[in-house]
Amino acid sequence: MKESFIYIPEDSDFTLYNIPFGIFRKGDYYAACTRVGDTIVDLHMCMITGIFDELGLEGDIFKRKTLNDFIALGKKVTSDVRIRLQRALEKGGYLDNNIFIDQEIYLISDNVQMILPIRIGDYTDFYSSREHATNVGTMFRDPENALLPNWLHLPVGYHGRASSIVVSGTEIHRPNGQTMPVGSLKPVFGPSKQLDFELEMAFVIGNNTELGSSISVSNAENYIFGLMLFNDWSARDIQKWEYVPLGPFLAKNFASTISPWIIPLEALEPFRVQGPDQQPEPLPYLKSDGQKNYDIQLSVDIITKLGDVKRVSVSNFKYMYWNMNQQLAHHTVNGCNVRVGDLMASGTISGPEPDSYGSMLELCWKGTKPIAMPDGSERKFILDGDTVSMRAWCGKGDIRVGFGECDGKVTGH
Ligand code: MN
Repeated sequence: MKESFIYIPEDSDFTLYNIPFGIFRKGDYYAACTRVGDTIVDLHMCMITGIFDELGLEGDIFKRKTLNDFIALGKKVTSDVRIRLQRALEKGGYLDNNIFIDQEIYLISDNVQMILPIRIGDYTDFYSSREHATNVGTMFRDPENALLPNWLHLPVGYHGRASSIVVSGTEIHRPNGQTMPVGSLKPVFGPSKQLDFELEMAFVIGNNTELGSSISVSNAENYIFGLMLFNDWSARDIQKWEYVPLGPFLAKNFASTISPWIIPLEALEPFRVQGPDQQPEPLPYLKSDGQKNYDIQLSVDIITKLGDVKRVSVSNFKYMYWNMNQQLAHHTVNGCNVRVGDLMASGTISGPEPDSYGSMLELCWKGTKPIAMPDGSERKFILDGDTVSMRAWCGKGDIRVGFGECDGKVTGH
């Protein structure tokens, strides 16, 4: 068991096995940081202590407003930084009881503001949960042919919008748009009446590739820096009217919420699991062997304006049919290049049970099965004043690694 000299509350997401990366702001000061328990550790101040000496880092690499330049140094360097932090923060480690260390290296998490930690160039959203695709196909098309013919042969996805991805805690404005109410002959304009969440994980690209080159399934992990928790807010009524034939547009691009921490892929190593059996066998460029899924427990709570909390979903990232390596191989097989800081989201992660579905659309089955809230009210979709609060964590014996908050409160117009 790795023990720190910093107090770590029980069930904290931020044990010494984690060492996530983020960017905090305090007044005009911005810096990269990690977190142990409820303590934010300033990596620029760590640099000054000398714990990263011999790594040849630029002196101000951590005194920046995004992690892109750090991530671009490559996995060898970023892993070394992570390991050095882990050792220095251990009980008896270099930073323990070191009276020469400036105590400003440590900050209380409540006293700083976590900001969007990466400059996201491009964002892609996949649709890789078989249970989710089956549920949606059953509701909107034909239960006998719920999956479209391509679905079992390729990781379906679309290009989303990076400009509206916001960090946890940012308020979400209910989108206006065009909808075609059932029974109506003309579309109407107004606030969406079917605002929904999508429970997803996203991965951050760690290396640039050249236009024209591809990433193979077997090499894809080298291009994944780490993972974040992701809420792909969706306006179902707008989506239903606009999505044919080119797919999601204004129903999706008004906002997506991410957790402030990037969990490096190395921290998730103990939680690898085998993915679902893939039949029919994928084409050779998509074939994947070994444990390429991750056992990450997921939950979604709706918190009402008055603070009543209802857990509406419990799911797991391990249910994904197409894994991240297959998604990345497919994304680049045509020569599409990727860049450091690009974000690729999994698609809604639904499990096999009705309480493991990753959206209100599925949990309430198109509004036919409302969820009872603790205050006696009902939800089919998200109301103004509601906060959608997602969590993700891995646990194995004493090893616990979590993702922090992915929260967004919905406001009206
Ligand atoms: Mn989505």
